[in-house]
Amino acid sequence: MVINFAAGPAKLPEEVLKEVQENLVNCNGSGISVMEMSHRSSNYAKIHDATINDLRELLNVPSNYKILLMQGGGTGQFAAVALNLIGKTGTADYVITGSWSAKAAKEAAQYGTVNAVLSKLAKYTTVPRQETWKLDPNASYVYYCDNETVEGVEFDFVPEVPAGVPLVADMSSNFLSRPFDVSKFGVIYAGAQKNIGPAGTTVIIVRDDLIGKHLKITPSILNFEQMDKNNSLLNTPPTFGIYVMGLVFKWIKRNGGVAGMAKLAAAKSKLIYDTINQSNGFYYCPVDVNVRSRMNVPFRIGSASGDDALEKEFLSKAEAEGMIQLKGHRSVGGIRASLYNAVTLAETQQLTNLMLAFYKNNKN
Ligand code: PLP
Repeated sequence: MVINFAAGPAKLPEEVLKEVQENLVNCNGSGISVMEMSHRSSNYAKIHDATINDLRELLNVPSNYKILLMQGGGTGQFAAVALNLIGKTGTADYVITGSWSAKAAKEAAQYGTVNAVLSKLAKYTTVPRQETWKLDPNASYVYYCDNETVEGVEFDFVPEVPAGVPLVADMSSNFLSRPFDVSKFGVIYAGAQKNIGPAGTTVIIVRDDLIGKHLKITPSILNFEQMDKNNSLLNTPPTFGIYVMGLVFKWIKRNGGVAGMAKLAAAKSKLIYDTINQSNGFYYCPVDVNVRSRMNVPFRIGSASGDDALEKEFLSKAEAEGMIQLKGHRSVGGIRASLYNAVTLAETQQLTNLMLAFYKNNKN
């Protein structure tokens, strides 16, 4: 048996994969695969609309928010957010707490003036409290990344922003893992390949008054107004990905909704962090306790900077037990266990068991 702890593309619920397999050559009785359906057909329209409606239901998305399905991944949205919103005042505030928000800020700087809200962090292991932030009341928007996938830093609060300034969140790696109040945001977006489906689709939830304010140079496929006017069918959408995502949304609905996912995420991450905390420093997580990610748990073995031989041995022992894709991101090294919605509590327990046994055998 294989247990996939990948950071993304990542594990999908087995039940959903089996459903996809069973319906692969004859989707919903149409006699053809979803991959072979016209995106203008009534069969596909049912899938497309149900996917959007189920997401609206899962997150209680208010009626003045539009749900768009776009391509270009998270990186596409780094540009799209700026292209669609920065025109208001020409400047935007970026809260840089990790690799992904740093990349987003760099991309946005091509289209306007980007202000760094925080003094540059020496290490991405913390979220400075809001009292220290320098927010500009004239910014077109405030941007942050709710969960930094590489460093394992997850916000434990929703930022407060000046009146009239929309808040933009990259939720690519913790989307649908906890409930949140959509009305606090101007834009929320998430690439699918972590918590909700195959790579290739990006979900955007945007407040309707922010649509139509794009820069003239905005390409049509990144243009929120054009996407909205066409119900995300401006051009051929990633139909297969949207279909699988729709099945994942139904799976979440069957499994306690987003609140159910949050409960599970808390239990799974607690198992790993408790094991780290109780190892007398053998396992070391550099992230501040209050912002430790429930989705991506990075840790070192042997010391704070990691013992290379021990980490290699741990990874090979994990692989021998079927636990794969646990290697940390190349920029931070060490181990990273990603615990997205589809990873079960039992699977997480198995990793914890290995961590405990490995500690027992290698502690001094
Ligand atoms: N934002 C976050 C939080 C991510 O984790 C990633 C990718 O891992 C991205 C953005 C970039 O996504 P993509 O590879 O789809 O462009």
